[in-house]
Amino acid sequence: MAERSQTAPEAGNDMGNDDAIGGNVSKYIVLPTGYCGQPKKGHLIFDACFESGNLGRVDQVSEFEYDLFIRPDTCNPRFRVWFNFTVENVKELQVREIVDVFIVGLRVIFNIVNFSKTKSLYRDGMAPMVKSTSRPKWQRLPPKNVYYYRCPDHRKNYVMSFAFCFDREEDIYQFAYCYPYTYTRFQHYLDSLQKRNMDYFFREQLGQSVQQRQLDLLTITSPDNLREGAEQKVVFITGRVHPGETPSSFVCQGIIDFLISQHPIARVLREHLVFKIAPMLNPDGVYLGNYRCSLMGFDLNRHWLDPSPWAHPTLHGVKQLIVQMYNDPKTSLEFYIDIHAHSTMMNGFMYGNIFEDEERFQRQAIFPKLLCQNAEDFSYSSTSFNRDAVKAGTGRRFLGGLLDHTSYCYTLEVSFYSYIIGGTTAAVPYTEEAYMKLGRNVARTFLDYYRLNPLVEKVAIPMPRLRNEEMEAQRKKEKPPPYKHPLLRGPASNHPNGKGDKRRSVNHKDPSNPF
Ligand SMILES: [Zn+2]
Repeated sequence: MAERSQTAPEAGNDMGNDDAIGGNVSKYIVLPTGYCGQPKKGHLIFDACFESGNLGRVDQVSEFEYDLFIRPDTCNPRFRVWFNFTVENVKELQVREIVDVFIVGLRVIFNIVNFSKTKSLYRDGMAPMVKSTSRPKWQRLPPKNVYYYRCPDHRKNYVMSFAFCFDREEDIYQFAYCYPYTYTRFQHYLDSLQKRNMDYFFREQLGQSVQQRQLDLLTITSPDNLREGAEQKVVFITGRVHPGETPSSFVCQGIIDFLISQHPIARVLREHLVFKIAPMLNPDGVYLGNYRCSLMGFDLNRHWLDPSPWAHPTLHGVKQLIVQMYNDPKTSLEFYIDIHAHSTMMNGFMYGNIFEDEERFQRQAIFPKLLCQNAEDFSYSSTSFNRDAVKAGTGRRFLGGLLDHTSYCYTLEVSFYSYIIGGTTAAVPYTEEAYMKLGRNVARTFLDYYRLNPLVEKVAIPMPRLRNEEMEAQRKKEKPPPYKHPLLRGPASNHPNGKGDKRRSVNHKDPSNPF
């Protein structure tokens, strides 16, 4: 989430020294207390030593219950939200049939015990993601198996517990806070685009992170707009300044996929606008499995005022480019949009700035209003405009102050969990495809904003289906077999300590969920 004050109590609290966690667990075998022999089937092995992995410590509570500790962001113990780890060497569960009801004989309970936040969408039905070797597509666990509550055993921290059945002994299971989107995946995606040799897509390295990872800058526009002396209307988009906010990358990919497509709207947009996109501002944080910070523990979205070339090199590079474009009389920087994900709100929505000039303030509301018409998951009523002091170092606030009255700067937020369609109360969990669709709708909205609709008919050709839509249709045909899930009686009786919190009642409607 972009805009949480570091001083707010829910933003993070320091851990005591006795909780210090150095790194990720590496093929950590949990053996029962007093057991000395070779590990056996059923002695779970936990691992988070892989890209974007995060799990710092495992404590066995009983044969079937484990306390799990998130590894704090590197050099910043205040942030503990993102987790991503594997479990293997599982023992298949025994299933007995009793009077037409399948009762699962064994199950495990995982308690994530050291979240740094108190408010969470877990209260509203969010559930961790799971996939396994034989079912490689990420699924959300059924919300009925997930509990979020204040736990006296863990200094009254908020704990998220979930029950799970391991049903295939050979599978490696992976659990994550939200759909992972790694630096390597991003690099492969850009490599595949580059290989297509599109004359309206350009990739360059704008800089490097502290650990020498690429800061990629994409330019998508008709080659005519790049001729010497051509005037440019620029839309600048950034993402993943907060590394745990993986939905940002899916939205960003949706924007890119749409803009490089042969869709008539995309062709008109490329003719009229220059899109500059830096999709991953914090590649080290993404690689390391941090939630909010860079390698050195900085929240980069609080350092726009004076980024250091050695401590915040990616931010420094992007800021330099934006300032340079602003000073170029041939360039009109019209939009800056920074994409984040929100851990307590539903839907997509925006934050904007407050200006003394009433007309500018009103005009700033136009883009989110148009986006609301195009995207059923975007909420204008959740969109807000502010100038809080704690947000002075954000990209939106800093550039809003720097750029002139013809530029608009927004933070685009999208929920880690779900959206509620207007006029209903049903929470629809976001899928990877739904995040990308929001991105496509963001791109389309520039057509409405610049009133370019009449031009679309002129370039209209038989409309090819978008690749993502085709892939989604294909995926729907190939549903993986579902996981078995424990049958539970209810929160209070489920948790071993009996401390389950009541959740707000939400009607879950996810067509992709087989449960
Ligand atoms: Zn954020």
